[in-house]
Amino acid sequence: MPTTAEDLDRKTFLYNLLVPVMNKHVEGLDQGKSMYLLFIKSETRTPSGLTARPVLTSYYKSRNFVNRPFNRFNVYTSPDETILCSDSKQSMYCQLLCGLIQRDEVLRVGAVFASAFLRAIKFLEDYWQELCSNIRTGKLSDWITDTSCRNAVMSIHRQPNLELANLIDSECGAKSWEGIVKRLWPRTKFIDVIVTGSMAQYISTLEFYSGGLPLVSTMYASSECYFGINLNPLSKPSDVSYTLLPTMAYFEFLPIEKNHEEMVQGASVQCNGDAADLNCLKEEEKLGGKTVDLVEVKLGQYYELIVTTFTGLYRYRVGDILMVTGFYNNAPQFRFIQRRNVVLSIDTDKTSEGDLLNAVTEAKLLIEPQGYLLTEYTSYADTSAIPGHYVLFWELKFRGNTDISMLDSSIMENCCHKVEESLDFVYRRLRSRDKSVGPLEIRVVKHGAFDALMDFFVSQGSSVNQYKTPRCIKSEKAIEILNSMVVRSFFCTKDPFLEPKIGSQAI
Ligand code: AMP
Repeated sequence: MPTTAEDLDRKTFLYNLLVPVMNKHVEGLDQGKSMYLLFIKSETRTPSGLTARPVLTSYYKSRNFVNRPFNRFNVYTSPDETILCSDSKQSMYCQLLCGLIQRDEVLRVGAVFASAFLRAIKFLEDYWQELCSNIRTGKLSDWITDTSCRNAVMSIHRQPNLELANLIDSECGAKSWEGIVKRLWPRTKFIDVIVTGSMAQYISTLEFYSGGLPLVSTMYASSECYFGINLNPLSKPSDVSYTLLPTMAYFEFLPIEKNHEEMVQGASVQCNGDAADLNCLKEEEKLGGKTVDLVEVKLGQYYELIVTTFTGLYRYRVGDILMVTGFYNNAPQFRFIQRRNVVLSIDTDKTSEGDLLNAVTEAKLLIEPQGYLLTEYTSYADTSAIPGHYVLFWELKFRGNTDISMLDSSIMENCCHKVEESLDFVYRRLRSRDKSVGPLEIRVVKHGAFDALMDFFVSQGSSVNQYKTPRCIKSEKAIEILNSMVVRSFFCTKDPFLEPKIGSQAI
């Protein structure tokens, strides 16, 4: 995505606007600090010599962030050096240590996305004893080798604190981690993480750890353009709407019709019976047809968002579907409904049905010479553990004398690897570098499992004639049916390679 220095000012404006909005709804945010866990990621160069990096990395490295004026309503527990540390493990450790040391001052905690915050909790689960020992001794672990990060932490972590170490020890050593956020940071008023869109899958886990704290989704943005903010930050996740800031880009909207069951079955998409099924939308107009401007959108109507940006994108389809929920003065407010064409997402990865098909097509070539044919597949994002991972259900047909017991584990592990290698750069980076997505799993199911899946969807109202196996399932019941028919399961045992495919994939 093209970007310019000037565009940073527009992003900074949006970030700055979040401060008074939050103050309007929560009092006393100037009486302490925010424990925001923020990270940078690695950079690459395009063949023409331009730097390519994630949008937030650009922002945190910019003068706008590093030289931001002091604002007592927006003070972080993490020194900038810990945010700007390129080693994500050292960065995480140091940020959590600083957050724990300043626990009495922490008024809110957060990260950009829910998935990143849960990763921090998992990290805390793995490292709390070492963090405690550092607090008890006033020392910093030797493996924190980034000098500026080390110095920044030591300027806060000046002396042993036995009392704090004992307290963390007893909270983290407790049997259950339910409400751990509130227990470790008792003055926290809310958790600032995006929980709309694909991040909604993490709400129940966050609620478990949060001890009933409000979950606040403050803004809606993308690499292409920052869009808008949530003017009612304390609303329930399911009620969150974003007000687009008209000056961020030139916005247009392509009307989308919310489908009826019969239309869905006639279309190439499958309504698989899930509540709020993400595929139950059908495009009504092609771009170039009747797009409407920001002032013309209608309450309750679905639209696909199109932007013309200051940095050079012209009538660009962001891929997001939004619904108008109301107006703030004359500015329309939108609920995020879904991202078009994304079936699997754990963190910031966005895997479409087509991406999955390509990857599975590559992988199944490995088993065919062994006498196994892939007859059906589907998938789901398993987020029951942190990090979450992709699960593929495969039904196989055995040729000749083969049977399931003869299925070679190493070949199936290679299939997992092949799928991962065929997915895009963002997926591979999250898997192999950031480790925010766990190893992909293939669960081989009994013969007939996909018939049972079809029976289930038919019982939910799908037409037998027009039934198409959904390539991703979200219904818990459907997942349960397939899980009950799993005969063997295989995981990827190595990381996918990480060469950026510049020009063909987002970075
Ligand atoms: P990226 O460019 O990879 O950062 O992804 C941007 C996309 O993430 C957006 O187009 C949305 O699909 C999604 N996204 C960003 N912010 C939100 C939000 N607040 N709620 C739901 N989805 C979001």
